[in-house]
Amino acid sequence: VYNFAAGPATLPDPVIKQIQEELPSLDGTGMGILEISHRSSLFDNIINTAEQDLRDLMHIPDNYHILFFQGGGTGQFAAAPLNLATNHKRIALLDSGHWATRAGDEAANLGVQVDVLASTKDDHYQELPQMPNPISNKDYDYLHITTNNTIEGTAYHQLPEHGNVTLVGDLSSNFLAEEYKVTDFGLIFAGVQKNVGPAGVTIAIIRDDLVKPVEHIPSILNYNLFVKKNSMFNTPPVFAIYASGLVLKWLKQQGGIAEIERINRQKSALLYDFLDDSKLFSNHIKKTDRSLTNIPFTTGDADLDKQVIQATTDAGLMNLKGHRSVGGLRASLYNAMPLAGVQALVDFLHNFERQH
Ligand code: PLP
Repeated sequence: VYNFAAGPATLPDPVIKQIQEELPSLDGTGMGILEISHRSSLFDNIINTAEQDLRDLMHIPDNYHILFFQGGGTGQFAAAPLNLATNHKRIALLDSGHWATRAGDEAANLGVQVDVLASTKDDHYQELPQMPNPISNKDYDYLHITTNNTIEGTAYHQLPEHGNVTLVGDLSSNFLAEEYKVTDFGLIFAGVQKNVGPAGVTIAIIRDDLVKPVEHIPSILNYNLFVKKNSMFNTPPVFAIYASGLVLKWLKQQGGIAEIERINRQKSALLYDFLDDSKLFSNHIKKTDRSLTNIPFTTGDADLDKQVIQATTDAGLMNLKGHRSVGGLRASLYNAMPLAGVQALVDFLHNFERQH
């Protein structure tokens, strides 16, 4: 089967195979990854190697820390304002969809003022909000953006102009799927369960000057503490970090992010070209804002969409149902989805269209 789920998502076949082989005994120890101590030298090596591979893949300079958290992207919606919105207690946000809204709601919930500078809600988020006016760090602790909008199917391929304001990026759904310059951001975070590994670990990449002691925040979300403890303040998600490490190695073998982005562009173009030519199916997102990883589409008829979802499922093309807030279908083409999977989907849709 091909798994088009928005997350947790498919993992590369060779990685699944390696996990299977190593599960009973890692490195001849007689103990598997599910059983070893996070304080062992074996795990030290696993987490340090994963960190170095990520540093290499994203060209992360030495003045950025790489942290491994639990709590998902949702946990970081709280961690970012708790750690960074300490000066003005005020942040700016571009409302590009559901996950940007959720991030803003959580910051507001923690007593931070959230200024929504622009929103495309009235257009059903079918394009990205643009920055209306220049902004300054005299007003804001940071600007929050969602680089890829998993539900709506848009992505910033060029970052919005943000003046001297620190940029915080939720990269959850296109982390390592397309190239971004780390130094454009003060903080990047991403749950790994789409492009990097199994659910359970969230990666945060933070510039050193933003890491400072903050009082009265939960230790489990405290960047300063996690930097000091090398992400091992408590028991980390050992298996998820190990599996993510294997995917990072796999990504290096594929040629790194530039190469993966090239393949992702090829994969998404295959589907977008089909949709744009189709008389039955369509994608409504503004062309320049289209996501490489999440592609919603519809026949425009809810009953027919249901039929397509059933027919694709019967054919082994899984999890194409769109998010309930958007309806229709959605194909998620993360890094582990091969071109052959997208071709199989396009062939199937093409045949379906001919029969209808
Ligand atoms: N941000 C984005 C862009 C997402 O797509 C998601 C989940 O799909 C989240 C945040 C929330 O992540 P989590 O479920 O890891 O809390």
